Amino acid sequence: MGRSEELFERAKKVIPGGVNSPVRAFQAVGGKPRFIACAGGAKMTDADGNTYLDFVGSWGPMILGHSHPAVTEAAVKAAERGLSFGASCEAEVEMAELICRAVPSVEMVRMVNSGTEAVMSALRAARGYTGRDKIVKFEGCYHGHCDPMLVKAGSGVMTGGVPDSAGVPKGCAADTLTAAYNDLGSVERLFAEFPGQIAAVIVEPVAANMGVVVPEEGFLSGLRSICTRERALLIFDEVITGFRLGFAGAQGYYGVTPDLCTFGKIIGAGMPVGAYGGRREVMEVVAPLGRVYQAGTLSGNPVAMAAGLAALRILRDHPDIYDKVNRLGDFFRAELGKRIERLGAPCRVTGVGSLSCLFFTGEPVRDYASAKTSDTEAFGRYFRHMLDRGIYVAPSQFEALFLSAAHKKEDIERILAAAEEYFETGNCEIGNCGNIR
Ligand SMILES: *Cc1c(COP(=O)(O)O)cnc(C)c1O
Repeated sequence: MGRSEELFERAKKVIPGGVNSPVRAFQAVGGKPRFIACAGGAKMTDADGNTYLDFVGSWGPMILGHSHPAVTEAAVKAAERGLSFGASCEAEVEMAELICRAVPSVEMVRMVNSGTEAVMSALRAARGYTGRDKIVKFEGCYHGHCDPMLVKAGSGVMTGGVPDSAGVPKGCAADTLTAAYNDLGSVERLFAEFPGQIAAVIVEPVAANMGVVVPEEGFLSGLRSICTRERALLIFDEVITGFRLGFAGAQGYYGVTPDLCTFGKIIGAGMPVGAYGGRREVMEVVAPLGRVYQAGTLSGNPVAMAAGLAALRILRDHPDIYDKVNRLGDFFRAELGKRIERLGAPCRVTGVGSLSCLFFTGEPVRDYASAKTSDTEAFGRYFRHMLDRGIYVAPSQFEALFLSAAHKKEDIERILAAAEEYFETGNCEIGNCGNIR
């Protein structure tokens, strides 16, 4: 038995499913999860000493690659000054100033400890500000695991085959209304049905938890117009897209300004960090200024702030990083598309910038319903094929492939060659397994 296998056996006895987050369990793709010992640049090494070319990047935070020396040094130095104070520190102010300067919609921001917490808090602020209860979310969008958002929630929930989670009281989800991504009509219908009752529309500006589904022309700006007209708040969940599509996030990239937005992943550079922010007038409802309570013992933690700030400063001072990584994404999608066409593979490539997805379906993917037509068994075979060749992609069809500044053209050539080899086997033929439809 290898070391990863041994660790997994031990873990299963004391951790539910042997993992601290479900999608790490490889349940959707078969095989045993690898336990990672260390990572650097675009590579990760497991407990048995196998090295992988990594296209997960810790699910988003690692846009600079793993173990960037400046980020590590900032965290180590901060740790030496104290792990937590329970009082404010300078790094929190610098972080808030940096985010407010970078992101068009943000005039005030509050730091929290995860993307889940950021969303939960933003929803509470939106409800507190508007005095309304209902929230519109989109099928297949994931906004963390807080109760009201575990409705048609994409990725982990989706691959587990459970549409909604047990343990969420009906009342908690009752005020969550779901619309279809890229379908403004479905949003209009909800506003018509619940006039004056919808506090906010929350959306992943690029949906990256049902695979990657990009917003069609007019979708985000259409949401902006509807929310303005209905006096509801528009919330962009930028936990993945923030500081990834560009330094101003998806809102900068697409030129649509929400009222509130949430961050996580990249802003912590791998440390547990989240944030929510937006218009001053809305953020002023948050305690101690206003009546919406939200708190956190470790929020704005000095070590986490130091790591996040180090990463964000590099991104701010080197905008060429975005050009490079986004161009690499364009190259990857174009080249993969050519191979799919040449070999007649029943697949689709989607994505924008450094976010991509290979869907095992012949249909165009523009929402949750079309994403779900993917043959997940074929994806599982593809995943195992890649892992065998030392290429680590997310262990689920419904996740993004993340590129970082540490990826080189050779790395892209390597994943393209491995994908081509897979298409040539014919193993991706839909219906080989009768998994879906
Ligand atoms: C990852 C993610 C979250 C949840 O963040 P956690 O830090 O895992 O709690 C929320 N929204 C989106 C869009 C995400 O991708």
